[in-house]
Amino acid sequence: MSASPSPRAPAHGHRLHKTRAIVLISAVLGLLSVILPTQAGAAALPPPPPTPVFGRTIEPLAAYVPGTTCDPTPKPGVVAFKDMILKRYGGVDWGISNNNCGVVQEHKEGRAWDWHMSVYSPSDVAKVNSLLNWLFATDQYGNQYAMARRLGIMYIGWNQRLWGSYRPQDGWRLMSDRGSDTQNHKDHVHFSFSWDGARKKTSFWHAPAYSGPLPAVLSVYKTTYNTQKGTVEYPYTLVAGRRYLVFAKHAYLYATQGAAGFAADPECSQSLTKVWSSLNLVDWLTHSDTYLDLKVNGQSTWMPTISTGGGCNLKDHTYAMGIAPTKTQKLNLRTVDVIRKDNRGSMAVEVREYQR
Ligand SMILES: [Zn+2]
Repeated sequence: MSASPSPRAPAHGHRLHKTRAIVLISAVLGLLSVILPTQAGAAALPPPPPTPVFGRTIEPLAAYVPGTTCDPTPKPGVVAFKDMILKRYGGVDWGISNNNCGVVQEHKEGRAWDWHMSVYSPSDVAKVNSLLNWLFATDQYGNQYAMARRLGIMYIGWNQRLWGSYRPQDGWRLMSDRGSDTQNHKDHVHFSFSWDGARKKTSFWHAPAYSGPLPAVLSVYKTTYNTQKGTVEYPYTLVAGRRYLVFAKHAYLYATQGAAGFAADPECSQSLTKVWSSLNLVDWLTHSDTYLDLKVNGQSTWMPTISTGGGCNLKDHTYAMGIAPTKTQKLNLRTVDVIRKDNRGSMAVEVREYQR
């Protein structure tokens, strides 16, 4: 179920001269062409997945970054998406990974998923339509394709058509007939994810754990974490059943020994070439995404308060994270770092307590 879509490079240049209206119309027409008609007697459109409450900050549509390396380990954002969809709609999991490393595709990087759904089954079609409508809907802030962006979906293959986040103006593009229902994506939906989406770094997974407007703040605790320390426990208790919003800010230096050092902040860090990323070499080697992150009671699902791309906030290095403790315990902080004594600097942490 390799997609091998051979999409062209992301469009730019002359396409920018098209009018917005033409872009919108073609996107809508493209959308309609793949949303198959619901047949008589078919199941009603099932409800889409639950949608977290989001602020205005949102990712742009994912760029096309084809799968070229060979690392089939399923990536956490793809696993979480698969679990969410199977729990909501049911259906059969046709897998995330393959070892087809000679072909340009994303399954061999563990960042694509095939959902077994048939274009010939009215109830399957209703489920896929429900999901696609949800992924492509404009949110209350006017962001088009809001959930697809928040999940980091790069392209979708279904019913012999491709929708690419890097070519939204082209809508659903017809693929040539490849001979079988599987090759034509008529017996499954293929989802490819951006690296941010695959690494679960996008905003969909980082919304504070609230189901409605934030209630009044019950208490605020502020402290400073010295990045030379390991786990530090503070005289402030996170109570089970309550909701917290934690803010952390400031960049610090790591690996200063024999070097000027590299900068890091609660979520992102500079690599050897001093390029900032939410992932670094250690993350790639360990299939983790937390190296040099600040952990608050074991959690590090930070969301930048100002997004400068790639899950980072390079403007003021401030991040937020929702915490809903299931057991009562003291606040503790630590950075995920093997050598701390060569670190220079600290991060400011503020915990705001709410109760439903
Ligand atoms: Zn596939």
